[in-house]
Amino acid sequence: MDFELNEEQQELQNAAIEFARQELNDDVIRRDHDEIFSHEGWKACARFGVQGLPVPPEYGGMGLGITEAIAVMEGLGYGAGDQGLLFSLNAQLWTATLPILFYGDEEQRKRYLPGLAGDSVIGANCASEPDAGSDIFAMSTRAEKKGDHYLLNGAKTFVSNAPIANLFVTYATIDPRLRAMGITAFLIDRDTPGLSVTRKMEKMGLRTSPMAEVIFEDCVVPVANRLGREGRGVAVFECSMEWERGCILANYLGLMRRQLENCIAHVRNRKQFGKPIGKFQSVANRIVDMKVRLDACRPLVYRIGQLKEKNKPAVLESSIAKLFLSESLVKSCQDAMQIYGGYGYMVDQGIERDLRDALGSTLYSGTSEIQRNLIAGSLGI
Ligand SMILES: Cc1cc2nc3c(=O)[nH]c(=O)nc-3n(C[C@H](O)[C@H](O)[C@H](O)COP(=O)(O)OP(=O)(O)OC[C@H]3O[C@@H](n4cnc5c(N)ncnc54)[C@H](O)[C@@H]3O)c2cc1C
Repeated sequence: MDFELNEEQQELQNAAIEFARQELNDDVIRRDHDEIFSHEGWKACARFGVQGLPVPPEYGGMGLGITEAIAVMEGLGYGAGDQGLLFSLNAQLWTATLPILFYGDEEQRKRYLPGLAGDSVIGANCASEPDAGSDIFAMSTRAEKKGDHYLLNGAKTFVSNAPIANLFVTYATIDPRLRAMGITAFLIDRDTPGLSVTRKMEKMGLRTSPMAEVIFEDCVVPVANRLGREGRGVAVFECSMEWERGCILANYLGLMRRQLENCIAHVRNRKQFGKPIGKFQSVANRIVDMKVRLDACRPLVYRIGQLKEKNKPAVLESSIAKLFLSESLVKSCQDAMQIYGGYGYMVDQGIERDLRDALGSTLYSGTSEIQRNLIAGSLGI
């Protein structure tokens, strides 16, 4: 496999970097502190085409390949300070937009995809529950069929984008005893009676990406809003996890590259004991490790693009990419902070924010432990 970008892909990535530098760095320190989502940034991304990257033109998207989508995300991560906004975009793209593209009927695609690919619909993914996190198929949100509609009752937690979303891709069970075989997926509009976005949840990082709990109380969802077949929601969920795990961290390839470049410049300029700190081997070694991690991570993510473009499964490869990239990211952010010394610990440098943002990556979309379990399972262990 060749993981170099061709000329067109490189131009696309350069355009994404330029766009992000100009449009996605506005007042990030204050917004991170105050937990403020940038609606302007979201709209600017829609104008650039981010929300519709892999969505076919007939549904209002750019119809690009997954490699191009990854290249754009990498570019955005390089140019943008607002990684929270990129997280919100990723959450929508991989766990709301793509499941509708792959599992929605024509009516559902026409109803939701143009808005998702533009800026009029913001999507959220309601899977996790207070008692069903890693053990997601233990979910207890019930979906009872009553003629032409379902009645949903239950509580979802950790729902990214919930405070700003107007579409909730929601998983519920028709019978908890069936575990995975009972899970059914639904498309639920925000104004549906019985749906309420309740407690806003304050996070350590990714603070510009809002999160809340979502409660369903006798929420009436028409059968026409079921996504895929009854009891087959697990296929929708696993498809969205495959995409999310494979692609959600692509922007961090860009962040890791920018961080590496900044650290190299810093260790050349910063002098202690009469020489640049990069001349101390223990400092240089951190830079070396950052470079090795970045070069090891990149092919793992681009491999997903190439597999998906050939319509091949990438379940195992996505878990590997998610596990290795998230853990590498955290280590590299820690290295960057150590390299910058006390200055790295200060808010205005942005390194502490990158580290706080990065720490979530080993948790969402399946924790590192769960990725290891999945990889072990695929090896027959
Ligand atoms: C920033 C962020 C955004 C998120 N966004 C969303 C979202 O949009 N929608 C959504 O539905 N959810 C979302 N989540 C929830 C996320 O998917 C869960 O946090 C995650 O799946 C872990 O579940 P839990 O938090 O309940 O932890 P638990 O499942 O309680 O796990 C606690 C610890 O036990 C370990 N553990 C559990 N089971 C095993 C096992 N079998 N083997 C080994 N170790 C195990 C875990 O790895 C972890 O270390 C988000 C989470 C975060 C942090």
